[in-house]
Amino acid sequence: MKKLLVIVDMQNDFITGSLKNKQAQKIVPYVKAKIEMYQKNGNKVFFTRDTHFEDYLTTQEGRRLPVPHCMKGTEGHLIANGLDTDGYEVFDKPTFGSLPLAERVAQIAADCDEIELCGLCTDICVVSNALILKARLPEMKMWTRRLARA
Ligand SMILES: [Zn+2]
Repeated sequence: MKKLLVIVDMQNDFITGSLKNKQAQKIVPYVKAKIEMYQKNGNKVFFTRDTHFEDYLTTQEGRRLPVPHCMKGTEGHLIANGLDTDGYEVFDKPTFGSLPLAERVAQIAADCDEIELCGLCTDICVVSNALILKARLPEMKMWTRRLARA
């Protein structure tokens, strides 16, 4: 049985940058261990990145959350220091949940029986992508678990 691990938005800006957060810092080692376990078992790993551009503050997200973050080309947009993306696909998505992302994951997971999601933050980005993926892949076993608590 093959599995796919989807790591959502583990980017510097959410961990140590403009939207930094102590819980996010706490989960980095857990995510790292999870990646290593998937790798060891010959399973797949896929990263997503929240991605914004110069017009961020005029977007709907930017009006609700006027803190520029994950701007393409900045340090804050990169996957967190300590998580190695070498050899894995990194997908830039423009909003919380993303239809093109669901299409890409459906291709990658074509030979998988299970998708696990983890990352930042569970209540917004992880959940919205899980719902979109579930709509695209209704028969896929899919789950996520909170890695740290307040
Ligand atoms: Zn964002």
